[in-house]
Amino acid sequence: MNLFIKNARYFWAGGDAEVLQNVSILVKNSEIEAIGSETELAPLAGDARNIDASELLIMPGMINTHHHFYQTLTRNFPCVQDAKLFTWLVNLYPLWAQITEEDFHLSTTVASLELLMSGCTTAVDHSYMVPTGASNLYYKQIEAAKKTGMRFHLCRGSMSRSKKDGGLPPDSVVQTEDVIMKETDELVTKVHEGEKGGMVRIIIAPCSPFSVTKELMIEAKKYANRKGLKAHTHLAETKDEEQFCIKEFGVRPVKLMEDLGWMDENSFYAHCVHFNQEEIEIMGKAQGGVAHCPTSNMRLASGIAPIVEMLKANVPVSLAVDGSASNDCSNMMLEVRNCMLLQRVLKTANCITARDALKIATQGGAKVIGRDDVGYLDKGYEADLIGFRLDSLRQAGSSTDPLAALVFCAVDKVDLSVVHGEVLIENGDFTRFSKDELNEIITRQNERSQAIYSHYKNK
Ligand SMILES: [Zn+2]
Repeated sequence: MNLFIKNARYFWAGGDAEVLQNVSILVKNSEIEAIGSETELAPLAGDARNIDASELLIMPGMINTHHHFYQTLTRNFPCVQDAKLFTWLVNLYPLWAQITEEDFHLSTTVASLELLMSGCTTAVDHSYMVPTGASNLYYKQIEAAKKTGMRFHLCRGSMSRSKKDGGLPPDSVVQTEDVIMKETDELVTKVHEGEKGGMVRIIIAPCSPFSVTKELMIEAKKYANRKGLKAHTHLAETKDEEQFCIKEFGVRPVKLMEDLGWMDENSFYAHCVHFNQEEIEIMGKAQGGVAHCPTSNMRLASGIAPIVEMLKANVPVSLAVDGSASNDCSNMMLEVRNCMLLQRVLKTANCITARDALKIATQGGAKVIGRDDVGYLDKGYEADLIGFRLDSLRQAGSSTDPLAALVFCAVDKVDLSVVHGEVLIENGDFTRFSKDELNEIITRQNERSQAIYSHYKNK
């Protein structure tokens, strides 16, 4: 189905483009065919479906580069509401071990729908926990993501060091390294869509340098390089981690990644909070990417990542909501706002603009995950775009700068979402899910969350 998105009241193509008025977009199949005025494009539109955008601001869909979808089942658990990272992990692992393959399907649906509603059109899920016997979970996740219509980059994660090997997780959620690499290769062979417009891609992603052995970190990265895939892991999230790294390996986290052969333009790291200036420059030179998670960093009191300094050093920076056990909402627009606000706490009021934060969430994300077909709106790009009405109560009085108003006034819900040329949200409602279906999904998720938490209370 082709789309003729007519007469957008405001239009931002992304990047440094000006915000324009009365712009129309013609979409053929999954791609943008042309952008121009309604009169220019009308003769080319043929039988394309018309969408009236005269009340909307249209911009590129956002890219969330780090999440743990399964954690939507363990949001807001009272036992970790006020915990710091390591205690938080130790309390949660036994509960996460209760999560089944069906739960992965359910939580992927919930997270994808929630992200879509907040303006995300491409989502990266770092899925590193494989409860015993549940390695089919990756296929379940892909099935669920496809059903929602989300463009999906699945990080095939891994943990191989349990408590008995000096790691944090229990035995029941780790795998042997041979099994990890074998199953990873099978997954890549079966589902990775490397071509332009690909809807499912695999990223190679050991959980962190502390939850697998050095050998697996090295092997996983070599495998990613051979296959032309991105590699991803957690890095420099907390001071505790930095101390642990120095104690365990005798070096700071960035040096460790250099030693493991990871420091290049095909790797990106979640958090990167505790970087010094020298490490920022190493990242800039290597073009290693960052998935900045401001809300999670505030929630766990991890610190403030030096994003403004990273941008100055030309480090590719993207934005992410992180897992729902540490955010606990998967809302990209609110993340953009927190990204802007938190840098201002660290530096000063004019260190980052609303537009800068939106750029990080769009073009920034595309660069970090290695895509040149999303994150911007122009002829030949994938039709991944979102639209916001401008007449909500929270926007009233903000119309002098409607694009920045999305960030300053905390507009957190889209009215239109198109992914791969398909309308997934229209007039603020999902097109693929009825209200009844949505309610059923929410009810089921609450039931499963209660059941998982009962394992804590029963202790
Ligand atoms: Zn994470």
